Amino acid sequence: MALFLSCLQVTAQDLYIQCGRLIDGKSDKVREKMTLIVAEGRIERVAEGFLTPENEGDRLIDCRNLTVMPGLMDMHVHIEGETAPDHYLKRFTQNREVTAFESLQYAERTLMAGFTTVRDLGGSGVNIALRDAINEGLVTGPRIFTSGKSIASTGGHADPTSGFRRSLEGDAGPREGVADGVDQCIEAVRWRYKNGADLIKITGTGGVLSMAKNGQNPQFSQEEMNAIVQTASDYGFHVAVHAHGAEGMKRAVLAGVHSIEHGTLMTPEIMDLMIEKGTWYVPTITAGKFVAEKAALPGYYPEVIRPKALAIGPKIQSTFASAYKRGVRIAFGTDAGVFPHGDNWKEFVYMTEAGMPAMEAIQSATMGGAMLLGLEDELGSIEPGKRADIIAVDGNPIEDITQMKNVRFVMKDGVIYKSEL
Ligand SMILES: [Zn+2]
Repeated sequence: MALFLSCLQVTAQDLYIQCGRLIDGKSDKVREKMTLIVAEGRIERVAEGFLTPENEGDRLIDCRNLTVMPGLMDMHVHIEGETAPDHYLKRFTQNREVTAFESLQYAERTLMAGFTTVRDLGGSGVNIALRDAINEGLVTGPRIFTSGKSIASTGGHADPTSGFRRSLEGDAGPREGVADGVDQCIEAVRWRYKNGADLIKITGTGGVLSMAKNGQNPQFSQEEMNAIVQTASDYGFHVAVHAHGAEGMKRAVLAGVHSIEHGTLMTPEIMDLMIEKGTWYVPTITAGKFVAEKAALPGYYPEVIRPKALAIGPKIQSTFASAYKRGVRIAFGTDAGVFPHGDNWKEFVYMTEAGMPAMEAIQSATMGGAMLLGLEDELGSIEPGKRADIIAVDGNPIEDITQMKNVRFVMKDGVIYKSEL
């Protein structure tokens, strides 16, 4: 009974967060000396000045020396794995149970870095179980929207057995996320539905880190892409497309996909097409820089990957600069997992280096992510009625964007996960 009563008290508790500075995710202004009142997992009130708790049991959270903002959203991560020189060998030796245990630390690190929501764009299926475990409160991590296993064509970027010797190749099909021809593409989308994915990820062109020669060739026909997008929409899924090369990217945009990932060799023609169709661009500059850096070290990646990483990796930042200038809709995304989870903040630095103002970069990781996910009524800004996903960083990130790495406070759905005040 005592326990029951104390639980009731906890849920009835209002939290008063005093904010030295407030970035709300929508307005271009940094407001000073504000107080947020959080009740039952939602933002109840945004008030001017430093208010103090009125009722006994209410709690004060002192962020007067910090900048408070909405929980960050990374629209491109691979939550269940992380880069390492033995990554390719582990495909043969590591059981999925181990992957599941390893994924827990990546999820926790991501949340502690201030990312309260992520879109996971491909893994083995552990990502789906991880999402559910987090939602059930069994483990600690961000809110996850996941594609489950990505869909590729045979030998394509996400074909799980590319590079294996023939006796180990098996016969991966739509169930495993390998699809050729319209019928298999439809079937592959339906398998993702059956397995509990939230969205569809396809690899529209070659990629850097797969065991294949070409990092940019188109890997689905127009008819296949159209079939994927049409089937996905039957199930309420949006489609995210990995694309480096222009031809595969153009086909994807024409098919009506929701987002282009990486977009490395995006032409002005494709940018205009994306603007016309409202297609999102998720740049992942951090991953490009990381793979180019590691490719210079002998042995970090298999040899077939090194020239691709050196050619494609460094180009993403300048593509981002052009796409931003031209007016393409941009949502923050990093490809974390390709580089260590928790370093997602580096993307802010690279975005501002390429000409995007700090406030816009933060908005791309708050309202931008929420809009991409169609959750702008629930997430992405600090406004009354929204879910209480709130973080705080040192100093003023508008003046010094590297402060985005110094996250002192993390709240998700009104629950405090980090409080180093
Ligand atoms: Zn990726």
